[in-house]
Amino acid sequence: MIQKPRGTLDILPGESEIWQEVERKIKKVASLYGFREIRLPTFEMSELYKRGVGETSDVVQKEMYSFNDNDRRNITLRPEGTAGVVRSVIENSLGNGALPLALYYLISCFRYEKPEAGRSREFYQFGVELFGAKDASADANVISLAAAVFRELGLTDVHLEINSIGCPNCRPKYHKALREYFETRKDELCPTCLERLDKNPLRILDCKSPICKEIGEGAPKTVDHLCPECEEHFNSLKKYLDAAGIEYKVNPRIVRGLDYYQKTVFEFITDKIGAQSTICGGGRYDGMVKELDGPDLCGLGFAMGLTRIMLALEAEGVLPVIDESPDLYIASMGDTARAKSFEMTEALRSLGKRALFDQVGRSVKAQMKYADKMGAKYSMVLGDSELEGGKAILKNMQNGESCEVEIANISTLAECLK
Ligand code: ATP
Ligand code: MG
Repeated sequence: MIQKPRGTLDILPGESEIWQEVERKIKKVASLYGFREIRLPTFEMSELYKRGVGETSDVVQKEMYSFNDNDRRNITLRPEGTAGVVRSVIENSLGNGALPLALYYLISCFRYEKPEAGRSREFYQFGVELFGAKDASADANVISLAAAVFRELGLTDVHLEINSIGCPNCRPKYHKALREYFETRKDELCPTCLERLDKNPLRILDCKSPICKEIGEGAPKTVDHLCPECEEHFNSLKKYLDAAGIEYKVNPRIVRGLDYYQKTVFEFITDKIGAQSTICGGGRYDGMVKELDGPDLCGLGFAMGLTRIMLALEAEGVLPVIDESPDLYIASMGDTARAKSFEMTEALRSLGKRALFDQVGRSVKAQMKYADKMGAKYSMVLGDSELEGGKAILKNMQNGESCEVEIANISTLAECLK
């Protein structure tokens, strides 16, 4: 038996309807905030992620699914959404249109990681990107959208943590302070962080190793090294969040895993789903569009992990309840009755009723067993005598009550299926 690749998910009937409902709610909130959907390729040129996500990020260093295609082009399965959106904004000159430009996506992403609860190799994200808005009110607006999604989904055990990691102006000074601090504990750092110390010491603060984490606790904080502009932006964001009644905690340890962030970074965290508790992460990436050869267009956004959101919904006991059971199952005896039952189900479907008929030619007993398994609310048996008399018995499968209905009168039959 061939099994699915390690770290992938089968979303089966029963679950898929829950996903549809969650996605419907997400789209509703995105639309309320004026965000429009963008659909992009599942793979891009590898170069895009190297430059857009950053050479020193974990994603580019060890998590990408990359391969050469038949034309020897180096292709990568999308590990995240932002780089592709930025590529498309540049390629389609969307920055020349009305600004700010507000986009969202629902996608699957691919990362070669160690699978565990809440961490898979193909996973699903809802993300938004907002271009052309520098003011901190835009940051507050994007954070508010994420909070509104959690509200709409009924999640309550979610809290927001924010930080500012500065900009290219204040970063050199901060990096210097960080390097000086980590140099003093160099011998304890993991080999990867030792490399990071040279290339991008900020990355060390995002290391998952317990020792590096502990060392990171004592490191200088970004918020103490902000230039006046970044400090003003961060204070302004906090005021907007306060005014909107959005609760937050400043966590100076949040730096985010991708290289392109500056100024605002944030995460939404839940305590209910174990170690992989970050269900949404985002921030501002003002230099990125230009970095990818586009115009000088600022941007910010977030990505939510839908797999982790499902775990959180389950843990909080608020998974949507979906009823996909048929309204009516028409059992039949013989070819003529089956043809009639097909005709009736077609008419009922056009009236919005979920109707099923026998497509197998089984015994009536076997058909009724199937109707039961499918959770049909009503059933009916059609045989020669029903066809001759033009009437059949409609049975309520829940309470066993039955009534007689006219076969030809479909609208009355549909009325009975309440
Ligand atoms: P982590 O620290 O958990 O590895 P990350 O910083 O790599 O997360 P992002 O790139 O910011 O994650 O992705 C945004 C969100 O997507 C995460 O907050 C998480 O909810 C989800 N996510 C990321 N990687 C995975 C994965 N392998 N499996 C499931 N969900 C994921
Ligand atoms: Mg990661």
